[in-house]
Amino acid sequence: MIRPPNLLRTQQTLLAFAAVAWLPLLTGAQAQQTVSYLVADGFDYPVGKPNAAGYRKARGFYPNGHLGEDWNGNGGGNTDRGDPIYSIAHGVVVYSDDFKMGWGNVVIIRHAYREKNGQIAYVDSLYGHLDRRSVKLGDRVIRGQMVGTMGCGPRDMYMAHLHFEIRKNLEVGMNRSDFKRDYSVYHSPTSFIEKYRRLRQEFRRVPIPVNTFMRSNPNLLTMDRISAPEALREPIAAGGEGAPLPDEPRPQVPEAVMEVIETQTDAKPAEAAADRNFWDKVMGFLGRKS
Ligand SMILES: [Zn+2]
Repeated sequence: MIRPPNLLRTQQTLLAFAAVAWLPLLTGAQAQQTVSYLVADGFDYPVGKPNAAGYRKARGFYPNGHLGEDWNGNGGGNTDRGDPIYSIAHGVVVYSDDFKMGWGNVVIIRHAYREKNGQIAYVDSLYGHLDRRSVKLGDRVIRGQMVGTMGCGPRDMYMAHLHFEIRKNLEVGMNRSDFKRDYSVYHSPTSFIEKYRRLRQEFRRVPIPVNTFMRSNPNLLTMDRISAPEALREPIAAGGEGAPLPDEPRPQVPEAVMEVIETQTDAKPAEAAADRNFWDKVMGFLGRKS
């Protein structure tokens, strides 16, 4: 069937109009929710507050490798298990749950801070593998407040350590695999903390966006959420930062895979995107070289 050209144009115009007309509705559906809270007056380390006294960074941040830092007590082994983990700054708890998989107990806190150029910006700090969580979703915490304790991850799959991330992208949440693994999404935690170590105290509150994690599939389970393969593919730092120590966690990869399969089996029917590459990822993971 051949449509008269003018009718085709009309249809295209209508389609274009429909798309544009929907935009405000879509945006409206995702209208930003905020809570009012303090601007950070600086950022501390999450262990041995405020300067990480008694702790060392066992692994550093590497784009496309290790997307956070691993912190250990100087005592070695599991002597640091149960040690307090502190919020690095004032902020709002935007995630507190047992994610299981390779993560275990995770807390994410969102912070408002003033950048060097004077503008308010936001970051999420993530504390992973916790033994216990001591804050809940929506809590407002202050710098140095305990958010949980150092742990060994689910089923004690690691030697005790803190996996610590700082994200500039507020949509990541536990959907790390949907985002780039570089500085467009993450800060190098220590660099960020050192840059904003002390900020002017402002006795004012600002709106902090909440419920920003991607809603397309908030509970999407993917291989990327497993810390086990992450640990295996971490490169060893040339400068020594992050060189694995003898007592570093060496997760059992097959166990992690089994865990994924179990969780995936138990999970609710996934949306199309969820299973799209699941086996690809499993196979890719199995074939991944460390
Ligand atoms: Zn880590």
